[in-house]
Amino acid sequence: MNQNTFESLGLRRNLCRVLDDMGYLEPTPIQTQAIPALLQAKDLLGVAQTGTGKTAAFALPLLQLLDENNVSPHPRQPRALILAPTRELALQIHGEFSAFGRDLKLRHAVIFGGVGQSPQVRRLLKGVDILVATPGRLLDLAAQEHVDLSLVSALVLDEADRLLDMGFVRDVKRIIAQTPANRQSLLFSATMPKEVADLSRDILKNPVRVDVSPKQVTVQDIEQRVVNVDNSDKQQVLEKLLHDTAVSRAIVFTRTKHGADRVTRKLIKAGIGAEAIHGNKSQNARQRALDNFKTGDAWVLVATDIAARGIDINAVSHVINHELPHEPETYVHRIGRTGRAGSAGVAWSLVDTSEQGRLRAIEKLIKFSPRELEVQLPYREREHHASATRGTRPNDCARNNQASNGSRRPRRRRRRRAA
Ligand code: AMP
Repeated sequence: MNQNTFESLGLRRNLCRVLDDMGYLEPTPIQTQAIPALLQAKDLLGVAQTGTGKTAAFALPLLQLLDENNVSPHPRQPRALILAPTRELALQIHGEFSAFGRDLKLRHAVIFGGVGQSPQVRRLLKGVDILVATPGRLLDLAAQEHVDLSLVSALVLDEADRLLDMGFVRDVKRIIAQTPANRQSLLFSATMPKEVADLSRDILKNPVRVDVSPKQVTVQDIEQRVVNVDNSDKQQVLEKLLHDTAVSRAIVFTRTKHGADRVTRKLIKAGIGAEAIHGNKSQNARQRALDNFKTGDAWVLVATDIAARGIDINAVSHVINHELPHEPETYVHRIGRTGRAGSAGVAWSLVDTSEQGRLRAIEKLIKFSPRELEVQLPYREREHHASATRGTRPNDCARNNQASNGSRRPRRRRRRRAA
């Protein structure tokens, strides 16, 4: 038998058929390593970030195990719990469970804050097999006795480093304390700072360790360049970089939510289709921004780190760091958003003099010094773009274009640089 198939990992035909329909031809490395161990109900420590196929790596075996032990879920008592740091990631995970579980009779639900709790409460009352949740809302509902975790047989902490980063450590521990001690536990994290290692030691029993960390990907596959620039020139440089015709879809990272809004406003003013995504936006606004970016109406997404994590967007040609992050690992996460699924991406970092220390720390982590990219200023194209406001962009053409060729890739709508 060909060893590199989902079937050879122990997944049953009904799941393999769905994967076939979804176009998953063969397992990714994390799936190859994790699925057989999880089917044996082992605990797992996965060092992996979004983009590696980690969601399927845990969702498929959990679905199979729950399906094999098919008991109807009791009202308010989920059988499996997946904790995720952000609403976007929770929704995404839930979407994958629904897709993979298409032919199974298992019930799933997703709960997160920022929206009314009544529909979530009703859903829990009907009984769910698999619950995907962000910690705050879950604890809220548990305190009100709308959910009871005493029958959870499998627990997944996804993006554990981000869960802890966002200050959820106590919430996570309180939630874990409400689950049975004999559960199967899985912890996924893109990085392994001490707090995550400590947590994993507390909650995992003899875990299988699977490491598909992206550090080599960072160095080998992504073209990284540094633009040395005065802070006051960053916006101009950013606009000039975005007008490079090679940029088809870009994520611009800013350190703060206000920074994201400011940069986005200026980009739109310069005729560049941009959306901002950060934690101050309502759930609906974040989803709208993401949809707009995914379907190509906006080809630049300006994001803060937390909001960007867990977002699954393919075909991002460029990641641009408007500022370098304080934590070197965050740089690795950021640039990992480009060059996904085997395609090479490009990452540019705008670095002013105050950020040189951060650059050194990143270079130490990635064991590599990105070359400098020189950008000539002043940038005088603005006059050409004065009329190209967001409202006058040919969105309808872009949509027609997508409809006719089936592609979600945004239509190229930048002007070439003035000679
Ligand atoms: P994840 O790391 O779970 O966020 O997955 C990243 C993306 O890869 C998602 O869009 C998945 O649908 C896709 N994916 C996961 N596993 C496979 C596979 N074996 N073959 C093709 N695509 C996959």
